[in-house]
Amino acid sequence: MNQKVALGIDVGGTKFLGVAVGEKGEVLVECRKPTPDNPKSILEALTEILFEIRAQLPSTALIEGVGVGIPGLIDFRGNVHYAPNLNGCNGLELGFELKSRLDFPVVIDNDATCAAVAEHLLGAAKNCNDALVFTLGTGIGGGIIAGGKVVRGAEGFAGEVGHMAVDPDGPLCPCGKKGCWELYASGSGLRYLAIQAGEEGHLKNILHHKGGKLFDIRGEDITEAALTGDIGAQTVMERFGRWLALGMANLACVFDPKLIVLGGGLVQAGDLILASVAPFFDQMVEGWRYRPTIPVVLAELGEAAGAVGAALLAKEIA
Ligand SMILES: [Zn+2]
Repeated sequence: MNQKVALGIDVGGTKFLGVAVGEKGEVLVECRKPTPDNPKSILEALTEILFEIRAQLPSTALIEGVGVGIPGLIDFRGNVHYAPNLNGCNGLELGFELKSRLDFPVVIDNDATCAAVAEHLLGAAKNCNDALVFTLGTGIGGGIIAGGKVVRGAEGFAGEVGHMAVDPDGPLCPCGKKGCWELYASGSGLRYLAIQAGEEGHLKNILHHKGGKLFDIRGEDITEAALTGDIGAQTVMERFGRWLALGMANLACVFDPKLIVLGGGLVQAGDLILASVAPFFDQMVEGWRYRPTIPVVLAELGEAAGAVGAALLAKEIA
């Protein structure tokens, strides 16, 4: 009998992660590609990665559909209204463009919503009716599960937590607002906090290894150095944890989740991220002494959650 599979692509600010999933959502094939810097090349790269995945499947595999997760404001028809971390994609009719290029049913959704779908159906939030899923990558995406359902909002734009302002006098965000949460608590936020700490003279050891070039510091330099006990890197992680906890606690006050799940590329340093949040999060939630503690856990599907969720949505429409 032909095996039914669905394909899912998570379009990130720096890379595409594509998967093929089987009948139970198991990942059969995984594929990566750098994200191009313009919409035409993004469309071409999307069709290329889909054909690359297809080529790795047995010829008998029956493709039910294709799902694509995109960061930003995506409506129910798959139109990209606003994607500040994807160059030139505002206004892109991605659903229409992909449907005209492919022979399969296509579904487009916000990338973090896709991650939340995957974690809710198969991962850390399985059997949990009220959960918040945050994906920490170039920015911060949010997926909200409330009353057992994914919250999508009137237009499909719900969950844009990364652009919730946490400091109205903060630095300018690519979205045009000031002090958005993702400027401090995402992968690029970690780098921003590192540069700030470096300017204050906290990162002498790391800068020594980087030839003194402050702007060459990457998030990984901080997480790796923090694990080896570098005090400057640990200072950056502490500041990062406080910012991350602030946004999480604000949203916990709004949604009263049973569980918070952290996913996205940054959680490759998972335990370090959890440890950085732990000293701040509980006490920032309203009435923390008088309510159950909200557990914070890592995404079980890891970095692939968005791609797997996109594929699961494609199975739903098939
Ligand atoms: Zn913003």
